[in-house]
Amino acid sequence: MPVNGLGRQDLKGRANSTIVFPLAMRRSIATVSLSGTLPEKLEAAAAARFDAVEIFENDLLFFDGSAKEARLLADDRGLEICLFQPFRDFEGVPDDLFLRNLDRIERKFDLMQELGAPLLLICSNVAQSTIDDDARMAAQLRQAAERAAKRGLRLGYEALAWGARVSTFSHAWRLVEKAAHPHLGLIVDSFHTLAIKDDPGPIAKLKGDRIFFVQLADAPNVSMDPLSWSRHFRCFPGQGDLDVSSFLAAVLESGYAGPISLEIFNDDFRGAPTRQTASDGMRSLLFVEEKTRARIAGASLDNEEARGRGKPRKTHVQLFDPPPPPEFSGTSFVEFTADADTKVALGELLGELGFVRAGQHRSKDVVLYQQGGINLVVNAERDSFAHSYFLMHGPSVCAIGLGTDDEIQAVSRAEAFGAKRFDGRVGPNELHIPAIRAPDAGLLYFVADDGKPAHALDQDFVLQENANRPSCEAGLMRIDHIAQALPEGQLDSWILFYRSVLGLEPEAPFELPDPYGLVHSRAVASANRTLRFPLNVSQSRNTATARSVSALAGAGVHHVAFESADIFATVERLRRNNLRLLAIPSNYYDDLASRFPLADEFVDKLRLNDLLYDKVGEGELLQAYTEPFEERFYFEVLQRKGGYDLYGAPNAPVRMAALAQLRRRQPMM
Ligand code: MG
Ligand code: MG
Repeated sequence: MPVNGLGRQDLKGRANSTIVFPLAMRRSIATVSLSGTLPEKLEAAAAARFDAVEIFENDLLFFDGSAKEARLLADDRGLEICLFQPFRDFEGVPDDLFLRNLDRIERKFDLMQELGAPLLLICSNVAQSTIDDDARMAAQLRQAAERAAKRGLRLGYEALAWGARVSTFSHAWRLVEKAAHPHLGLIVDSFHTLAIKDDPGPIAKLKGDRIFFVQLADAPNVSMDPLSWSRHFRCFPGQGDLDVSSFLAAVLESGYAGPISLEIFNDDFRGAPTRQTASDGMRSLLFVEEKTRARIAGASLDNEEARGRGKPRKTHVQLFDPPPPPEFSGTSFVEFTADADTKVALGELLGELGFVRAGQHRSKDVVLYQQGGINLVVNAERDSFAHSYFLMHGPSVCAIGLGTDDEIQAVSRAEAFGAKRFDGRVGPNELHIPAIRAPDAGLLYFVADDGKPAHALDQDFVLQENANRPSCEAGLMRIDHIAQALPEGQLDSWILFYRSVLGLEPEAPFELPDPYGLVHSRAVASANRTLRFPLNVSQSRNTATARSVSALAGAGVHHVAFESADIFATVERLRRNNLRLLAIPSNYYDDLASRFPLADEFVDKLRLNDLLYDKVGEGELLQAYTEPFEERFYFEVLQRKGGYDLYGAPNAPVRMAALAQLRRRQPMM
């Protein structure tokens, strides 16, 4: 992954500034952020191209080799060990305990020298017995620094948000200044600053060379005490709700040029594959660098404008500078993988949905179905990516084509963020479409959109003329959203993928009650709303989401929603095509009439057509669902009115209950 950005042009040659030659940023990860044994963690950190690691003491304790062997393992993988941590409950103690603490720290120094770690993290004392006396705490830290200096080691002091006396970076900084020892500096951590809503801005005013180390973590907005929050819910930057880039911007404006390190405690990570977590970590760090870079550049422009020829902001490190996300124009096609049997069944279902068989691939067993601006491809070719996907997952969506104004920029950005490029077999006269692997190993194609939606497909398919086309079509115009079911623990990883690789933004999370358990749902969408991907995760095994995950053997598309301009006409047409819509319990409509001021005739019309309804402000949503295809995926038909921008979450429980009832009636499903 090309990790060093091209930030130089922006940083040099600004009026009135000395020319800065920024250093490449050193990227680090704490071993506590990864699952597995120490060798596995080092292997994964190196594979994800980290420059350095922080060694967490427990990882060394549980390692069945010496500290020196751990050092060699890191060396062999090109990883610097930049920090050893944590050293707890050191400062603000009575004199007798302090002497014991000095003995304790000397033993850590022995270990650090074997390990080749130059810096020890001391976190602020959390014991309620800590003596509230800055002079004592500073003097004790100074003595430790004196001992460290004799060994050529350094100490960094970090304020924990739940420290007994010291809980802010500004307080920690006052102690560091008071101690006034060159071997003692400050360690700042985005979590400890942002979790207590402390303003990171003043970090910019500190002396950058007195900050010895910087840690980054993000967290979702949940209300609980900072300690439990920190232990269980920290996540990588870009996966939570904290403003990590404002924190990093302040740090870099101080002139800090040392490593930036991810220090994450998260229950999901402990069970996640080590390599996956490490590469998510790298992706998140690159993402926060991109955001920080934009923020610093923006602030610099503001400053220059505001202050005429004032001093622009500058940093000493080069931040990642990937190609910006391209403009997306929608889903240009969805590709299903099928075998000889399922391609027929799926073709019939698509026919009932009003799709016409529009073309046959020039060289492969692949059929194109069209309706309105929608292209669906059913691929049953044996020598293909689709077939290998079929062997793993059965009939399912194996690829999605995204229409974009600049497919080269799209694929460059994706690769810069560590996505794997895919090159499939291309026959004569066929178009090569750039593609990458999604996290479930399905494909995302970037399709050049010149205003004609089927452009890329025209070339690969022998198109059939359909004289009867308008009569069987059901008024479906475009793909509104593609919902994906994810295995537990993968939501953060997918959100990060969509945010960084495609530049999509996450929407507010929802919890959807299925009769068999809760489903967590969060959508990501492009700013222009042409791409929308609701992501669903279930913790219990019997929800519709969990059943999709198990039927698909992993993450996969759970439904595809088509937009209609007149859903009543569409549904009527679908019934004439013998399509079976998901039957909605009648009670739903009685409840609906009590929730919204709707005319009786309108509610009856909804009831007759198995349509679901939602309203937010002036926006209205009407939606209907097909019965599932082999309990794997289904289709949704919807109509948005008055700027309705969501997905009908209040209707999800009804839909999931209706699916559960259908399963009871058709136990073979
Ligand atoms: Mg920390
Ligand atoms: Mg939906």
